[in-house]
Amino acid sequence: MIRAWRLRWAAERQFANVRRVLDGGSAASPTFGTTTLDRDDVQIARRWLRDRRRWDKPETVQQYERQFAVWNGSRHAFAFMGGRVALGAALHCMDLGDGDEIIVPGYTCVVVANAVKHAGAKVVYCDIELDTYGADVRSVEQAISPRTRAIVIQHLYGLVCRDYEALLALAERSGIVVVEDCAHATGAEFKGRKVGTRGKVGFYSSEQSKPMNTIQGGVVVTDDDRLAARLKEFQRNAPFPNADFVEALLYNVILQYYERKHPQRWLLGDLAEILYGDYRLVSTSNEELRGQKPAHYGCRMPAPIAALGINQLRKLDRYNTLRRSTAKRWDGWCKEHGYKPATVVPDSVPIFLRYPVIVEPARKLDRSWGKSELQVEVGEWFKGSLHPLSGAHPGCPQASMAVEQCINFPCLMG
Ligand SMILES: *Cc1c(COP(=O)(O)O)cnc(C)c1O
Repeated sequence: MIRAWRLRWAAERQFANVRRVLDGGSAASPTFGTTTLDRDDVQIARRWLRDRRRWDKPETVQQYERQFAVWNGSRHAFAFMGGRVALGAALHCMDLGDGDEIIVPGYTCVVVANAVKHAGAKVVYCDIELDTYGADVRSVEQAISPRTRAIVIQHLYGLVCRDYEALLALAERSGIVVVEDCAHATGAEFKGRKVGTRGKVGFYSSEQSKPMNTIQGGVVVTDDDRLAARLKEFQRNAPFPNADFVEALLYNVILQYYERKHPQRWLLGDLAEILYGDYRLVSTSNEELRGQKPAHYGCRMPAPIAALGINQLRKLDRYNTLRRSTAKRWDGWCKEHGYKPATVVPDSVPIFLRYPVIVEPARKLDRSWGKSELQVEVGEWFKGSLHPLSGAHPGCPQASMAVEQCINFPCLMG
């Protein structure tokens, strides 16, 4: 529905644009265009919006899962409505729940801790290291108790985590299951293998800020045939999200492309907002911030989203190469300004979803310098120990420091 307030908003923005151009500036928005969505993705979204008969047919989803598994070097892959949903499915199928403790880094998204709680397990936080912002192996060792059944390790910003092998070895020694959170790191490699393939399970996200973009979506992989059979069964019994939600996801593809990617986005972005603004989705609802389940928790992925996933997967290596080349620019910026460049651990290939840097707290608090000095939007991941909630866990000093001082630069430019 076209709303008067949106027309007014767009008119004001366009007047401001005209003024900028008359002052000798540029009308295009600053390059916070960090989306991997292109015109071909928009065509896919439009095609599925026109034909709604096959939204719950399994073939496209199975094709996506097969292609993802082959590309990732995993035996099995299962697609769900989000990384958090994939994690929840994995915990359920591994019978993790009541009375179990699961170790989670105290620098993550609230939805990760929520998935553990929804499974009925207790979250025990460990601290992170400040090289790659992964779980710190010494802190994990201290967090292990007789009730510990699993640990979630993470590869944040697309960097392979520093203690990867030490964490895998510690878990093995302690009889603990490793869950790899690869939400930021689809395609990152360590010793020639993709991350997410060393733990019992790995999960990936195609939420709109992640390496692949289907607005929302996630995949869980495993090499364990018995667990795969459980996941397949769980998925078969899982509901599809309702059609209104799927429709909104597809309109968000169109919105985002015209807002962030199209060469004339300064104008077409506003038009897309006028036409489709009502469909705009947030990835984490207020209920989730309060620890409740989102509406589509437990849902499997429908065909239109898998079709987008197939197309995004096809382009992922190319985009990851672009991200790595932009990271070199930020390496240079760090050296020039006396900050520590991002750590790439030996034998690893990162993908640089974003480029993390530790800066003074004041530079994180007010990040407007990014626009004026560098023409980029400086990111604030993570805002708190349970992003996007603010605040840090008292027992995690390094995580607290990252919360106060870690900013990130975009690695895909408009
Ligand atoms: C985004 C994110 C998730 C959750 O993925 P969704 O697809 O949004 O559910 C999990 N872990 C980390 C570190 C994330 O950034």
